[in-house]
Amino acid sequence: MRMYVAGEWRSADREDEIRSPWSGEVVDTVPRASAADAERAVAAAVQGALAMRRLTAYDRQQILNRAADLLEDACEDVARTISLEEGKPLSEALGEARRTPDLIRLAASEGARMHGETLPLDAAAGAEGKLGFTLRVPCGVVVAIAPFNYPLLLVAHKLAPALAAGNAVVLKPASQTPLTALKLTELLLAAGLPTNALQTITGSGGELGPALCSDERVRKISFTGSVDVGRMIAGAAGVKKLSLELGANCPVIVLPDADLDEVAAATAAGGYVNAGQVCISVQRVIVDERAYGDFLEALRTRVEAIAIGDPLAEGTQLAALVSEGEAERVEGTIRGAVDAGARLLTGGSRDRGVVAPAVVADVPEETALWRDELFGPAVAVRPVSGVEEAIAVANDTRYGLGAGIFTRDVTSAMRFVREVDAGNLHVNWTPLWRADLMPYGGLKGSGIGKEGPRYAVEEMTELKTVVFHGVNGGGS
Ligand code: NAP
Repeated sequence: MRMYVAGEWRSADREDEIRSPWSGEVVDTVPRASAADAERAVAAAVQGALAMRRLTAYDRQQILNRAADLLEDACEDVARTISLEEGKPLSEALGEARRTPDLIRLAASEGARMHGETLPLDAAAGAEGKLGFTLRVPCGVVVAIAPFNYPLLLVAHKLAPALAAGNAVVLKPASQTPLTALKLTELLLAAGLPTNALQTITGSGGELGPALCSDERVRKISFTGSVDVGRMIAGAAGVKKLSLELGANCPVIVLPDADLDEVAAATAAGGYVNAGQVCISVQRVIVDERAYGDFLEALRTRVEAIAIGDPLAEGTQLAALVSEGEAERVEGTIRGAVDAGARLLTGGSRDRGVVAPAVVADVPEETALWRDELFGPAVAVRPVSGVEEAIAVANDTRYGLGAGIFTRDVTSAMRFVREVDAGNLHVNWTPLWRADLMPYGGLKGSGIGKEGPRYAVEEMTELKTVVFHGVNGGGS
């Protein structure tokens, strides 16, 4: 496919092959954009921002609703593209594709609710007779940089609110998964989006990112990806609005009154969906020692039943990681924990890009498997004594995206929600759960800002304060 910059579908001197993580076969090629393309994209977005500003909220909503309808019709084709380029099972890709039209519609309606408020200026000394109010306006040019793991959903979580709020966007999808973003771009244009309102530029984030992020014509950066890249973007951004949705290492606490079969079933899903390549994946399970042995056995049985195979084949639940290099890294991290004294109950072996889903018990706290983000199909488990220690262990991380607790005890659950430092807290489920309307974003090293259409529209807009002083600066 070609990239979409300055109103044209363009190729470039250099091309990148997009290969299926499962088969290694070339799915398609995309241009590798140059610095000149990045410059062209921002310049066109400045024009696009003017065009978007002139559209009414009604028109923006109509365009996005039409795009949602078109995506609904194209769901199966888009899901196949997601599965081919990202590697996730087709059933998961279909789930991702089918929820995205509603997300776009939700954003469309939020864009039609950009309220300001009146200011009670007569409550200020010397402000008698003045009239004050706020106006919520688009930021202008938004740079949206997306990760590989949800190539449609996470791109839509940026594009839809940004466009609904009247901005123009320069979108840089992940190098591994640009095809889905390009298909979404086609649908938005077919729905009537103004020519320059969207630039979808393909190529290396390392090459394009610094110029896009430091450009003074860009007013807002919305980034989802790793902590390291997030830090680089924050350094390059200068004076801009910034949303950073970064990495995680999500804990789940299991107290002895929980239904262990239910916990095992939820963990066997929450730790291994998309081969564990989810920012809210279950990574650390912190189990009261009274339930430890029974929980490990229940989890091992469930995890051994996960069906590994071709992502396009029916029934497949787990396929390859995004690249063989990532699979090697994940295998090495599991091995490192075992070398440090952990017990491997199942999985952990690697066949090219596939890592067999693993359960690792008694994982020492100082290992990378316990401390860092894994982003792979393994769950690390440790015993603790009581809820106080469980909460302390859950918080002993630089991340704070999601956390869960399983218990029927309301007092423990309340303590958990008050004391665990994470952006999304789940009582009687794992952190791997999201409704697209929720405010969603991390605390601590997991980032800054919230996604979810209502909150993203707020982050992609600015407030102007207006004061009417009346004739000669006096009252009415
Ligand atoms: P990544 O390596 O950080 O890449 C994310 C995006 O940043 C890609 O489009 C990448 O382009 C681009 N990029 C790379 N270097 C850049 C630079 N110097 N300046 C600007 N952009 C640059 O992350 P990933 O491997 O795709 O995704 C996995 C990470 O995302 C995990 O840490 C995961 O936890 C996190 N994530 C967080 C959330 C959340 O909501 N908090 C959701 C999903 C994923 P290239 O692909 O061309 O390198």
